Amino acid sequence: MQPETAAARAGCAERQPAPARAASALILGAMRPLPPPFDRMIAGQAISVGETGSDLLGRRLFTKDLAFSPKERLELGLRGLLPDRVLTIEDQVVLEVERIRRKTDDLERYIGLAALQDRNATLFYRVLAENLEEFLPIVYTPTVGRACQEFSHIFRRTRGVWITPDDQDQVGTLLRAAPFSDVRLIVVTDNERILGLGDQGAGGMAIPIGKLALYTAVSGIHPAVTLPVSLDVGTDNAALRDDLLYVGYAAPRLRGPRYDALVEAFVEGVEATWPGCLIQWEDFKGPNALRILDRYRDRVPSFNDDIQGTAVVVLAASLAGLRQVGRRWPDERIVIAGAGAAGIGIARLLRLAMAQAGVPAATIASSIVLVDSQGLVHDGRVDLGEPKRAVSLPAAIAADLGLIQDGPAEASLEAVAAAIRPTILVGATGVAGMFTEAVIGSLADDVRPIVLPLSNPTSLSEALPADVLRWTDGRALVATGSPFAPVPLPGETREVAQANNVFVFPGLGLGAIVAEARAVTDGMLLAAARTVAAAVSDARLAAGALLPPIGDLRAIARDVAIAVAEEARRAGVAGLGPERDLEVEVDTATWWPAYVPYTRARGHGPDRRRAAGG
Ligand code: NAD
Repeated sequence: MQPETAAARAGCAERQPAPARAASALILGAMRPLPPPFDRMIAGQAISVGETGSDLLGRRLFTKDLAFSPKERLELGLRGLLPDRVLTIEDQVVLEVERIRRKTDDLERYIGLAALQDRNATLFYRVLAENLEEFLPIVYTPTVGRACQEFSHIFRRTRGVWITPDDQDQVGTLLRAAPFSDVRLIVVTDNERILGLGDQGAGGMAIPIGKLALYTAVSGIHPAVTLPVSLDVGTDNAALRDDLLYVGYAAPRLRGPRYDALVEAFVEGVEATWPGCLIQWEDFKGPNALRILDRYRDRVPSFNDDIQGTAVVVLAASLAGLRQVGRRWPDERIVIAGAGAAGIGIARLLRLAMAQAGVPAATIASSIVLVDSQGLVHDGRVDLGEPKRAVSLPAAIAADLGLIQDGPAEASLEAVAAAIRPTILVGATGVAGMFTEAVIGSLADDVRPIVLPLSNPTSLSEALPADVLRWTDGRALVATGSPFAPVPLPGETREVAQANNVFVFPGLGLGAIVAEARAVTDGMLLAAARTVAAAVSDARLAAGALLPPIGDLRAIARDVAIAVAEEARRAGVAGLGPERDLEVEVDTATWWPAYVPYTRARGHGPDRRRAAGG
């Protein structure tokens, strides 16, 4: 039995029919409270528990391990089951951090943290929240990539919901088997484009798990309202299928109409089980990612972090850079190398930002130029799918720029950069070294250009910050997808901020949930970008960093959530009543992982505990 269902058995997390919950929220105009006892736990209030003894110690969301007080130990049948010493959660954090640091390998650290999450969730989230800078690269990129690759062999305790092609007709039933009754945030992947590692089959599940851990640690969304989901539609990774111990659906990847039908069944299942639940699409491959996002974004509250979260972080870095150098959108010329999920998402949002700044549509169309593996993306090409065509350069303008060549080959990035002289250059290709000295040499030389080589991991970055700074005599403002050390320059040290989506998605998700948003609108994305940009201090900008420090994440997530919820309400997509104070609502929905006092629920005596198998 899952620990959380045991909590429900103890009268802690009762299932209510969804319509009843929705109705009560409508009447009050407030975000509906978390299901009990999480409503009290999130408010730091004492709860009564029915579980006792080793049952209680085994409940990951309820145990305190050695932090149970002497009174609780006596009352809850814990005496004799714990060593004498009573620790505080602060003591426990010190001990856990010490344990994780003692391990010599990052994958072992990942496994250690996962074990802690399984054993004592409150402590896990507290450790993570207090040590984000140190453990973010373990719980998420880059170490989570290794966890995905070795998933079948390090898999211990199951988490989330797994849906395979055989489940087409019972997706709703599978979702209802989830351990929580009132899920408000799902991170779902089909595992096909896991980080830069491609198809990882069942191992992709480590990504939704990791993302949700960050949601809780950064924005305080309580884990009892979150659910990781794997659409385990098979894998085309032959090495995985050949592994006799592979834990996933060992068949070639489902494609075509049956794939679409399974995604549709998933969305219908979520709508029916948890109306209004926010769905975050995660690590779907380019064409599926764009198609699914566009198909469902007006139907259910949903967003794709690889497309939209990336775009928000790029827009935020650009806004901060423009502020630093005193430039405005009408003056910008932007080249985006890579026209996949990330590149197209970035182009879409930058176009919107320019439009909002009053730049005429015709100017926008010629100011944001994409290059893919075939070369310049222009609308004279016959090989473009609809999403790419929508952000392509008009062929007539390409011709005016001398970028339509004789023969089948399209203009290269070098040729495009030389013709456009970009003020902003973004890399989302996954190709190391794409930003050659010639490309960087073509950047506008009368301004400080913004250069964003986003590709992960570090080895695939389109350029090294030190090279970009050397080739531009220190003029460039650089942020990267992977972490890089500060770059020493004559007389100064230049910070290189990481364009990490973690600045965006926790607050975006929290804001959408608090507002009970019916959709994640473009306006909400723009609001998130403006908020992240505003969080970059002038001192940081002066040192060259285009994004805030990781240490500020929790404060930034709060501000982003408030801005996003405000925008949802302004745009008329919020369920939250206009009379509610959004700051209060966001703070009320934010959990700081800490223990609350327990008392024993009446009617749960020791005999009953034994009868229940404790
Ligand atoms: P994708 O596979 O959907 O797109 C890759 C694009 O690059 C395609 O358009 C392809 O044609 C193009 N490309 C490949 N080789 C090229 C070349 N030689 N010249 C020009 N274009 C070329 O992948 P994606 O999801 O869009 O991600 C792209 C990269 O962006 C990845 O490396 C990923 O790590 C990175 N990324 C970073 C962040 C971040 O830092 N916050 C977020 C998302 C993606």
